[in-house]
This record gives sequence, structure tokens and C-alpha cells, in this order.
Amino acid sequence: MSRMKWAGWGEADVAFSDADKPELRPFINENLGLDIGGEPAAPAAFADLEVPPPSLPEPLAAALIDAVGEAHVSTTPLDRVVHARGKSLRDLVRHRRGELGRLPDAVVSPAGEAEVAAVLQAVLAHDAVLIPFGGGTNISGSLEPPREEMRPVISVDMARLDRLLSVDAASRLARVQAGVFGPALEAQLNARGWTLGHFPDSFSHSTLGGWIATRSSGMQSDKYGDVADLTRAVRVVTPAGTLHTRPVPSTSTGPSVREMVLGSEGRLGIITEATVHVHRVPASRVILGYLFPSWSDGLAAMQALAASEATPSVTRISDAPETAFSFATRKASTPLDRIKSKALTTYLTRRRGFDLGQMCLSFIGYEGSHAHVAAQRKLVGRIVGRHGGVCVGASPGELYDQKKFDTPYIRDFLLDRGALADVSETAAPWAQLPALYDRVVSSARAAWDGLGARGYLMCHLSHSYHAGACMYFTFALNPAAGRDALEQYDVVKVAIQQAFVDAGATLSHHHAVGTEHARWLEQDLSAPGVAMLRALFDGVDPGRNLNPGKIIGARGLAEVSRSARRLRVP
Ligand SMILES: Cc1cc2nc3c(=O)[nH]c(=O)nc-3n(C[C@H](O)[C@H](O)[C@H](O)COP(=O)(O)OP(=O)(O)OC[C@H]3O[C@@H](n4cnc5c(N)ncnc54)[C@H](O)[C@@H]3O)c2cc1C
Repeated sequence: MSRMKWAGWGEADVAFSDADKPELRPFINENLGLDIGGEPAAPAAFADLEVPPPSLPEPLAAALIDAVGEAHVSTTPLDRVVHARGKSLRDLVRHRRGELGRLPDAVVSPAGEAEVAAVLQAVLAHDAVLIPFGGGTNISGSLEPPREEMRPVISVDMARLDRLLSVDAASRLARVQAGVFGPALEAQLNARGWTLGHFPDSFSHSTLGGWIATRSSGMQSDKYGDVADLTRAVRVVTPAGTLHTRPVPSTSTGPSVREMVLGSEGRLGIITEATVHVHRVPASRVILGYLFPSWSDGLAAMQALAASEATPSVTRISDAPETAFSFATRKASTPLDRIKSKALTTYLTRRRGFDLGQMCLSFIGYEGSHAHVAAQRKLVGRIVGRHGGVCVGASPGELYDQKKFDTPYIRDFLLDRGALADVSETAAPWAQLPALYDRVVSSARAAWDGLGARGYLMCHLSHSYHAGACMYFTFALNPAAGRDALEQYDVVKVAIQQAFVDAGATLSHHHAVGTEHARWLEQDLSAPGVAMLRALFDGVDPGRNLNPGKIIGARGLAEVSRSARRLRVP
């Protein structure tokens, strides 16, 4: 049942290495004051962890076994630890330290919607807690049971609901079970000539249900849309029965119930199935690299693209620090590479007047028929050129495309060497993006300077829309001695998140709320907005049996008269 490393990202036999990247060690030394050449510290061995025994009353265990079969109810330490949290930096650090928190008491794996409903019925009947589990990749604290939870906690692993059920070719809609992982979904769709076009960086290890429950966004959202755009209809097992919406293209049936399910993080029920937009696999697909003389030129180009008739599938520009980091992670070059690189550098500096320290790397993607791609490249090329950009061909884009699912492994590599790295991302209207960026940069610097620690912050803009775009910040911290590293991380993370909401941006563009971002919800949505959400969760789940404490923090348990108000699955 356990798939990813229990205290890290991805497969057990895959790890990031700097051995073939000669520029990385000096880069990290210079920017974080950290020598990554030293002896790495690995997480504690799993066998050395103190895993508390589960607390699963016999009648509940029997009801769960009745629901899914004995082979699909697990109380093994490894399954309980793997299903306890997601993959946020805080999750990884605490797991590595052996601070396991409140573990689920059992992990159950239903095979279909009827079994999911039977599991929920058992949970409600025994006043337990149910937490749906997709791939466990969220980074917002969306899975961890509340520390003070006294009731049995059941993690429902959705991985056995993994099938493409049907494709309606005329409507370009597919019915898909919610537990399917990204690669298995694309393989089933591709076999019939279709694609969903949703490729988050966590694609290999995350599921359709998780994407919907966190309002995920993939790298090609410029063309295909976020998961909120892609999801036409849902089926959700709730305490009141199975909710299903119709896969109509649009409707005026009041506040959208479909939208309420999007981003609900397991608080309204278990998503078992969705009907999603699919597209024909494109005949041609290319991602080109571009270099811009500065961040402001690059931002202006992305804004101009969004306002133009161009329809790229990917628009992304890194700021100068992220560009420098990308170059520092490249592999050892061949003599031919060095000649080409020297020629390009000479051209950029002498002929185009680039300051290499300010230069920004961009990727722009194109998909469709060969004629469409060719026409789009020309159109985009003209806009890029007006903003001082230079096309550097397909090879940087190909490399980025191949390596993007491997990049997450670098976080574990840095943790082994004492540095903390994480991400915070947001979205804002075009007019506000430059000021937002400046505010985040100065807040982060003030935070690590105040700590007396060394830090590095870098950013890219991606996911362009009519009205604005997402800004995605990655930060790394070499913590100062004498204070807990996680506390220092919090100071920087909070400074960045607060800068988002103070600048009028959202608390997250695609990483959801969970518990990590809940404290900024009222500033983002206003108090009446939060009250509306609270009423929704309380109305659907009066007993707080469904993933309590996520999105909106826990109320005092005494406020809830659970047994009196609880609805039951009919
Ligand atoms: C390295 C890395 C890269 C990432 N890149 C991206 C990215 O590019 N884009 C992006 O959007 N996100 C990204 N994320 C965040 C994460 O992958 C997403 O939030 C993803 O959508 C979570 O899916 P999951 O299947 O892993 O869900 P989980 O982490 O298992 O669960 C997330 C939440 O959804 C609920 N849930 C899961 N399945 C169901 C269901 N069937 N019914 C009801 N509720 C359910 C859970 O209870 C939980 O509250 C990244 C994370 C990491 C660690």
C-alpha cells in the first residue's frame, strides 16, 4: 500500500545528486554559506521510530472489514505513518525527527463507490473520523489529523478507484474514478488518443481526487485550464448520500455545488468519480526557451502575451535568482556546449546589451497541429522580440520538460545537508504583480536577516490568465545556530504569506488551504466569506467526522453536539 518514501519525496531508489552538476556546490556555498560536500545526515531509520499502537475499537474494525474486506484494512506502522501527512517541508522535517503526531488508526482501501459509502457509514455509526487520501502529496497540511482528536481516525486510500470508465468523444468528456494517479490516467486516455492535459509537478504521485479536492493547477494550464476548469461534474459520497452533479457545459442552478466540492479537502465527502474535459493528443508539442534582459521586461512580455491573440500552452518566466539557480544545476558541459555557450554569451552581452546578472530565463510552450504551432511561434516571437527577448531554441525547454518531475527530490538532498527549502505561491491581477514581487522579496530578506540566517529566494511567473497570473516563490534557508530550524522556517514562510495577502493577492493559487494557510483565510475571503464556508461544512458534516480542522480551524469540540445533529448515510 505504501508508495512514496515515508520521510521524503518519491520512489525509494531515486535521489537527487550533485555529482554531475559541478556548478551547484559553489553556488550553494556562495548563496547560503553551506558546503553540501560534507557528510549528509539521513532521516532516522523506520525501524527506530516509536510508532504508537492504533486505537481501533473492535466493532469499528469489524464494520470496516465488512465494508472492504480484511485484506484492505491495514494497521501496519508503515501504512499509518505514510498516510499521516502530506509532503510539506514541515511534514518531512517532523517525520525525519520521529515526531509523528496523531497517526491514523487504520488505513482502508475501498474498491468502488459502494465500498466508499459503506466505509463512511461505518465511520459515522461509530463516531470516528474519516480522512480521504489520494497520493499524499499536498503541502498544506491537508491530511494530518488534529493532534487532540480522541476518536478513531480512518485514512481512506483511494488508489483502487483507478479506472477510466468511459469517453464521450462527441462532448470530449471522460468519466474517471477519483483515485487514479496522473501517469495511469494519461496512459488510459492516451491509449484512446486523448489527454487530460493536467501536469502538476507532483503528477507522478498525485491523484485526480486530490487535484479536485485541492484545486490543483498543472504546468499547461494556459491551454487546458486548472483542474477547476477541467472538472465538469463530480460524484461525492457524503453523510447525506451520494451527491452527483450533471456534466453540462454551463448552468444557472444557483451557487455552484460543483465549485463547492472543488477545493473541499475531504470536508464535504469523498469524491469517487469526476467527469473531466479531454483533448485529442496534439500532433505537435514544443517548449522553447527564451532569455529576457530583465525581470520587468519578462513580466511585461507575459502580460502582453496574455492580452494578445497568442494561445501558448505554457508561459513561464524565472526571475534572475531562479535563472542563476537553473544554470547552476546544469550538467557538466562538453567542449561543443562550451563553444556554443560562449558564442551566445558574446551575442547577448555585446550585441544585445544584456547584463548576465539580470537575465531571466523563460519557457513558452506550443501544442496543436504543426501549422498551428508554427503560426503561434511566429506570433509569440514578435511579442517576445518587442520586449527584448531572444529565443534560445528547444533544448532548454526539452530539458526542463524531462526533468520537471525529478526536481522535487532536491528538497530531500538539501534537508540531508541542513538547509530547508520550500515554496509559496499566489496569484494577483497583472497590475499588482510587480509590487507584489518587490514586497515578497523585501519581507523574506527582512525575515532571514532578523534571524541572522542565510537565505535565498527565487520566483517564477506561470499560469497566465486574462486578468493576472500566478507568482511562485521558492526559498531556501540555512538556519542560524541556537534556534530550532523549523521555527526559523516559520518566520520566513509567514513573512512571505503575509506579504501575499497584504499586497492584495490570494493565500495560494494552487496549493489549497489545509492547516498551513488557514490563518490567512479571513484576510483573503473576508469574515462573512469564512462564515459561509463554516456554515457549509457544519451543515454537511455536523459531527465533524470528515477531515476536521482543514481550511477552517477547529472549533472547540464542546461546541458541537455530534450525536444529536449527525446525519447518516441512508
Ligand atoms: C514536489 C511537489 C510538487 C507539487 N507540484 C504541484 C503542482 O505543480 N500543482 C499543484 O496544483 N500542486 C502541486 N503540489 C501539491 C499537491 O501535489 C497537490 O495539492 C495535489 O493536488 C494533491 O493531490 P493528492 O492526490 O496527492 O492528494 P492528497 O495529498 O492525498 O490529499 C489532499 C487533500 O485532498 C483530499 N482528498 C484526496 N483525495 C480525495 C478524494 N477522492 N475525495 C475527497 N477528498 C480527497 C485529502 O483529504 C486532502 O485534504 C506539489 C506538491 C509537491 C510535494
